[in-house]
Amino acid sequence: MAEASQRVFLALWPGAEVAGRLQHIALEAEKRCGGRCMRRDTLHITLAFLGEVAESRLPLIGEAMASLQAGRFRLRIDTSGYWAHNHIVWAGCRAWPAQLDALVGDIRCALADAGLPVATENAFFPHVTLLRKAQAVAALPEFESIDWPVDAWVLAASSPASDGVGYRRLTGWPLT
Ligand code: ATP
Ligand code: MG
Repeated sequence: MAEASQRVFLALWPGAEVAGRLQHIALEAEKRCGGRCMRRDTLHITLAFLGEVAESRLPLIGEAMASLQAGRFRLRIDTSGYWAHNHIVWAGCRAWPAQLDALVGDIRCALADAGLPVATENAFFPHVTLLRKAQAVAALPEFESIDWPVDAWVLAASSPASDGVGYRRLTGWPLT
């Protein structure tokens, strides 16, 4: 029998206040675009996507991440958009600190060095998915920018849920 595996990714997960503000933007956007609003506890920015990893290999991810050193930074969520190819409405940053690109680069290298799978087909663009199955509109609602202090990143697992996708945070690492 094949070994059990989990569908995993590394991500930034907002605290309750930032998540609440992001959800408010999602609810406002839903009024215009329809679709399905992501639940507040599911909102995140993916840094690196691994996909299915055998459970016996999950500790390798922890070992790879524990070797990284990176400093804290702040994100300013100040823009949103619609992607026609996957019908997603997202919130993101017009610009972001070099530390975030460095963190993503380090994470992806550490995973590859450990022989773990990491998706590299898409250049990194930090965004929070707010709505799925949304319709294109002429303009998304404006919003006051959100200041998101980032002090950790996490390993999360995704699995199908009755109301869409469910994510579980498995472990995390501090930014210092
Ligand atoms: P579903 O695929 O069921 O619609 P989902 O996309 O949220 O839900 P996953 O496919 O498990 O769930 O993805 C988890 C996270 O990784 C999401 O933020 C998703 O956007 C991101 N992701 C998925 N595939 C890739 C990929 N190939 N490259 C980069 N990020 C990805
Ligand atoms: Mg997906």
